[in-house]
Amino acid sequence: TNERGGIDGKDGQVAGGPSAPCPGRAANGPRELPEEVFFQAVEHSPVAISITDLQANILYANRAFAQVTGYSKEEVIGENESILSNHTTPRRVYKALWGRLARQQSWSGKIVNRRKDNSTYLASLTVAPVINEENATVNYLAMHHDSTEVHELEQRVLNQKLMIEAVINSAPVAMAVISEGGEVVLCNPRYRNIAADLAPDQPLTALLPIIGQKLDGCLERLLEERRRFGDIEISIDIGGYAPRWYTCFGVSIEVQGENADGFFDQSGTTYGLLVINDISELRRRQQEAHLNALKALMAEENMVQGMRETVNGAIHQLQEPVNLIA
Ligand code: FAD
Repeated sequence: TNERGGIDGKDGQVAGGPSAPCPGRAANGPRELPEEVFFQAVEHSPVAISITDLQANILYANRAFAQVTGYSKEEVIGENESILSNHTTPRRVYKALWGRLARQQSWSGKIVNRRKDNSTYLASLTVAPVINEENATVNYLAMHHDSTEVHELEQRVLNQKLMIEAVINSAPVAMAVISEGGEVVLCNPRYRNIAADLAPDQPLTALLPIIGQKLDGCLERLLEERRRFGDIEISIDIGGYAPRWYTCFGVSIEVQGENADGFFDQSGTTYGLLVINDISELRRRQQEAHLNALKALMAEENMVQGMRETVNGAIHQLQEPVNLIA
């Protein structure tokens, strides 16, 4: 393919015509390949390939075409490519396809096709004009493969991402994923709130040394030695009448490489998940409850004292007549 997605020759065209040299074939010389080789290459290609006339009537289809569509070669020769249409692809997609072909350019895109057994599949289709030496379009070439599985996987990943994001964003705790370099690569709104509180007007990463200092090396060990830690209570004084209280929890995450190199080499990257729970309010309430309990105790003591005095007075009053009688 050329830079703009076309197939050999000019932009998006197939260099063709009976006398045109086959793609990849030396113009002359002993190493010239017989045309049969190119035919076999097309025939055995894992991509469904078809060649049509200018109305998209199928003149040739390779083996993969039969495998992907479920129609035998004999069944599709002479039929229009629209035999594959599921009639759910928007009109504008076909318009774009035909528009490109009319301008002697190739088109690539996705359409919903239907097999012979009526099952549908998402076809990743490329069509291109075959142009002769007089610069006239003589045929169309189509190549497609079933990309349903890739689409399903992409959609599943996207849906899972949306669901996970919804859960993380509504979680009542702050969460941040930290890279080996100590950068915050992902965080939820709660984390942003705490960062805005403790390190205002600074990047999200600025919160890590503040928390890390209190965690006594746990954050570093999480990334370097993959040692998790749990429920460590810390307090941070940011002025005001009371310090802020948090419980922290950390776990390391091993992520596999996504690029081609990672296919055989399974070495991954370590990230740390830091979970922070703001318990300042809980602490304040606990202290308040403690204070109230103390107050109640003191009030009780005062009451007991008062009662003691009253009883003493009564005893004193009672003793006077007793003394007199005595
Ligand atoms: P159509 O009557 O074909 O019309 C759809 C629109 O396409 C029209 O409004 C018009 O704007 C345009 N159009 C149709 N025919 C022409 C033409 N001869 N010249 C200019 N514009 C035209 N479709 C699939 O669904 N699946 C495929 O796998 C597929 N592969 C194709 C491969 C090739 C090489 C080509 C050229 C076309 C392919 N098509 C494919 C398109 C197919 O030919 C139909 O256009 C499409 O299926 C819609 O069919 P339809 O009967 O609903 O509408």
